[in-house]
Amino acid sequence: MFVQDILKTKGNEIVSLTANQTVLAALELLASRHIGAVLVLEPDGSIAGILSERDVVHGLHRHGKDVLDLTVGDLMTTRVVTCTRSDPVAAIMGMMTQQRFRHVPVVEDGNLIGLISIGDVVKSRIEEAQAEVEALRLYISL
Ligand code: AMP
Repeated sequence: MFVQDILKTKGNEIVSLTANQTVLAALELLASRHIGAVLVLEPDGSIAGILSERDVVHGLHRHGKDVLDLTVGDLMTTRVVTCTRSDPVAAIMGMMTQQRFRHVPVVEDGNLIGLISIGDVVKSRIEEAQAEVEALRLYISL
């Protein structure tokens, strides 16, 4: 299974905002879309950073309730690790585990074409394992 197989079912939608928006606006987006991270984009569509719920929790710990008045740019991670559509899902799972993040944007020829989360990766790996079990069942029943 490859990243492109996940995108085929999940689609290419990117939930994003810009670095000058408030943390409150980011929280509203995270809550209303039931997601754990948003991409932060430059006006030209390139990646400026990523803001996850974990960044907001750390920001709350550091700044108290004033965190809501900060901007997304104040809390986001700017060195964003990306993948391509041809990367194997198993490799992305290893990357997420080793580097301790749960979201990876997919980039092709410099263009953003999707974002996959650890939930997408786990779902894909379970489906793959179930297909293998089914194939083995069929094999031994022949
Ligand atoms: P997450 O586990 O995705 O909620 O994120 C945990 C931390 O890693 C947060 O500080 C995020 O901003 C950061 N992060 C999330 N995704 C990435 C990524 N693809 N590349 C670099 N940092 C990331």
